[in-house]
Amino acid sequence: MRHFAVVGSGPAGFYTAEALERAFGENARVDIIDRYPVPYGLIRFGVAPDHQSLKAVSKRYDKVVESAGVDFIGNVTVGRDVSVQELLELYDAVILATGAPVDRKLGIPGEDLPGVVGSAEFVGWYNGHPDFAELDPPLGGTHAAVIGNGNVALDCARILSKTRHEFEGSDIVGHALDALEGSAIRTITILGRRGPHQIAMTPKELGELGHLEAASPVVEEADFPPVEADDALEPGHRKSITILRGFAATPAESGTSKRMVFDFFAKPLRIEGEGKAEKIVVERTELDESGGARGTGETYEVPASLIISAIGYSTPPMEGVAYDERGGKFLNDQGRIGERLYAVGWARRGPTGTIGTNRPDGYEVADRIVAEMPPGSSQDRAGAEGLKQLLAGRGIMATDYDDWRKIEETEVSNARPGSPREKFVRVEHWLDALKR
Ligand code: NAP
Repeated sequence: MRHFAVVGSGPAGFYTAEALERAFGENARVDIIDRYPVPYGLIRFGVAPDHQSLKAVSKRYDKVVESAGVDFIGNVTVGRDVSVQELLELYDAVILATGAPVDRKLGIPGEDLPGVVGSAEFVGWYNGHPDFAELDPPLGGTHAAVIGNGNVALDCARILSKTRHEFEGSDIVGHALDALEGSAIRTITILGRRGPHQIAMTPKELGELGHLEAASPVVEEADFPPVEADDALEPGHRKSITILRGFAATPAESGTSKRMVFDFFAKPLRIEGEGKAEKIVVERTELDESGGARGTGETYEVPASLIISAIGYSTPPMEGVAYDERGGKFLNDQGRIGERLYAVGWARRGPTGTIGTNRPDGYEVADRIVAEMPPGSSQDRAGAEGLKQLLAGRGIMATDYDDWRKIEETEVSNARPGSPREKFVRVEHWLDALKR
């Protein structure tokens, strides 16, 4: 019998567990280990709460853990409660699927001022991540800025713009819903250091901005290259640009009270304010020969008492695991970090791609594992039993599939009208729910 430990229960972890289960069948046991007693990682804490159709992919993950060879072990932090080296003694292979939960730094003066938050923090706050329940982003000013031109920047700007009514059917946490309803923000400036052709936003997500109840996008026609230049773009990207051009051609709707202003060719230089963020100073840029942003020397100020930096994420290092500082991920060769140690998903590739990208990624790494330790061959390792014994000796209460279900049921029964559930936002509340 082979024993595999998959560390992290987001998309990458589940697809890898599914692939291992399919490859090894009865000849292996796969444990999905998570620091929280509830699974899904990015699906629970990252995907926007008003994108329930995307979150529905978790139903597929449920099937994986319901199969006989796969188990969920929660409330265990690898690197703190148990080391990777200890897991390698207990398991035939350890697969790190820990994602990229840390905000990349802007590296500009003023980024540590109150009022400047990373998108992982802001997204975590409205999605019920226990680390960010106390974030309390300042929503009392009239201006906010979001730095970055990717889908996460769009998520943040959209969430800031929606009315309470538009959150119906979502699972945004109650504390965020109430705070956003009382928000005074009327202008959200989305800062891109390059131009419209260089955005990393996808058409569906961009298109949503055109259908908001109380907010309209504002885009300058002068920022675009001639329309013929769109012909050279890949079709999906061209669609995004066509949507942006459509926004530019439409005056902001007079009935809407909020504006989402796309400010292209705007590179953040510094954040200023008396004891808290009040404005961001940006430099006008132009594209250089290789398509990068080149400063023109012209600077101006964008007022903002809330500044969300949505410029990408990194994987935190883990003791004893080779790390790629520049890439912000584990150092790996096509998923292999070292002997019997692998990385999948964002921890392997960096924070790019859709949820679905993790499926071939997980299957590919599972194929490598199959090649290196073919089904049928066997090693006598202790697996889950050994892990549970070790944790119990350290006073750590690992949770299981039934515990997770119990928490889920409680969250569903706590739901406010119009929401699928009210998420617990503190680990102790999850654990309390288990005592009932
Ligand atoms: P992303 O797509 O890599 O976008 C990051 C953005 O930040 C880029 O516009 C980048 O500009 C900008 N940026 C980077 N460093 C900067 C700096 N120092 N100053 C100013 N701007 C800077 O990352 P993301 O938005 O975090 O998304 C991560 C992944 O998740 C993506 O693959 C995304 O598509 C996916 N996602 C998908 C959905 C969805 O499908 N609904 C939702 C959320 C996220 P440059 O291009 O100039 O570097």
